[in-house]
Amino acid sequence: MTTIQELLAANERLSKEVLAPRADEVDLSRSFPRLNIQELGRAGLLGLTVPVEYGGAGGSMADAARALETLGAACASTAMVTLMHCCGTAVIVAKGSNELKRSLLPAIARGEHLTTLAFSEAGSGGHFYMPVSEVTRNGDGLRLEAQKSFVTSAGEADSYVVSTRKAGAVGPTDLDLYLVAKGTRGFEVGKSFEGLGLAGNASAPMKLDSVELRDQDRLGPEGSGFQTMMGVVLPNFQIGAAAVSLGIAGAAFQLSSAHVTTRKYEHAGSAPLAAIPRVQFLAAEMALELRSARAYLAETLRRAGSGDPEAMLDILGIKAKAAEAALAVTSRAMTLGGGSAYGKRGGLERVFRDAQAAAVMAPATDVLKEFLGKACLGIPLF
Ligand SMILES: Cc1cc2nc3c(=O)[nH]c(=O)nc-3n(C[C@H](O)[C@H](O)[C@H](O)COP(=O)(O)OP(=O)(O)OC[C@H]3O[C@@H](n4cnc5c(N)ncnc54)[C@H](O)[C@@H]3O)c2cc1C
Repeated sequence: MTTIQELLAANERLSKEVLAPRADEVDLSRSFPRLNIQELGRAGLLGLTVPVEYGGAGGSMADAARALETLGAACASTAMVTLMHCCGTAVIVAKGSNELKRSLLPAIARGEHLTTLAFSEAGSGGHFYMPVSEVTRNGDGLRLEAQKSFVTSAGEADSYVVSTRKAGAVGPTDLDLYLVAKGTRGFEVGKSFEGLGLAGNASAPMKLDSVELRDQDRLGPEGSGFQTMMGVVLPNFQIGAAAVSLGIAGAAFQLSSAHVTTRKYEHAGSAPLAAIPRVQFLAAEMALELRSARAYLAETLRRAGSGDPEAMLDILGIKAKAAEAALAVTSRAMTLGGGSAYGKRGGLERVFRDAQAAAVMAPATDVLKEFLGKACLGIPLF
């Protein structure tokens, strides 16, 4: 059996040899990185966090974060697809029925099944925990009407963890999560919204028009969707998204460092740009952003892993911190990269665009700061 260490080593090799060389092409053609996902699946990486009893590697959130940071540095679109797959997988593991787990998790572990989250809606925007979609009882079954606004891997994933108000909901957080298979009758994918960055993540709206569901398709008991979002999705997404942001920031740091240490002026002899104190100062600022965000991610993982009651504060904070670090580092990297960074096919312009997504992906940085401020002040979040 492949160990987690072997899987993480395979992830590093694939990121360097397969994903990074294709990253500009994925971005420029705005195409879903199907080949990358197939290679990751074949290597067992789509099953990194699937429990061993279902054929996975049984990896932790810390293992997933390590893998996602490496993927983020190589091809952020592929990293985002993998992050959403990991979040969907976490919900299936935690809340799927035994029948569902037996039928899906071995396929996920073998790299034959890609999943994702379909939470965000135009009606509630970045406040994804307040969907306006409705499920209604229809005889013995259920019928779902949902309009999802941005779904990563839309039409590419094999299954979708979909949020909705529960049948007969009263309060705004009376939610359920259902697993909907691609191609179910009433399942429609809209036109890609052509994002600024992460151009290959196949992000698009989805409509679920009178989709027939069974109680067995629900992930967890009726009405438990909000708890699952907060207890399962939030930690996995926040930590994974932070890791992807740090991968992007690390790539920007590497690319701009390579530029300033090799770029020389004919009029100035052999000294590279890196000899200029202001350039050193910017490099130091980037290093500080990266190193402090990495240390905070490690601390968040430590607290989350040890069941520390304060872990939720860091789970709220880490995505905001890493998103801001990625914005700061990529912006300075663009300055240091000069004209070549500004053009396509050097990598820097791509990672600069990729870094922008983290600040607006729900929960957005500003929303997280509102939550964190409330939590620090003892004010209820909802
Ligand atoms: C690349 C990408 C991939 C995505 N993938 C998925 C996916 O796979 N599944 C999925 O479900 N969703 C996904 N999303 C959607 C994402 O999670 C957000 O829901 C979406 O970006 C929010 O967009 P909106 O236009 O509705 O934001 P709006 O709700 O209009 O918010 C705009 C801004 O208002 C501010 N704001 C809002 N509320 C507050 C507040 N209370 N306090 C302070 N400021 C506030 C924030 O700055 C926020 O960024 C993705 C988004 C992106 C960009």
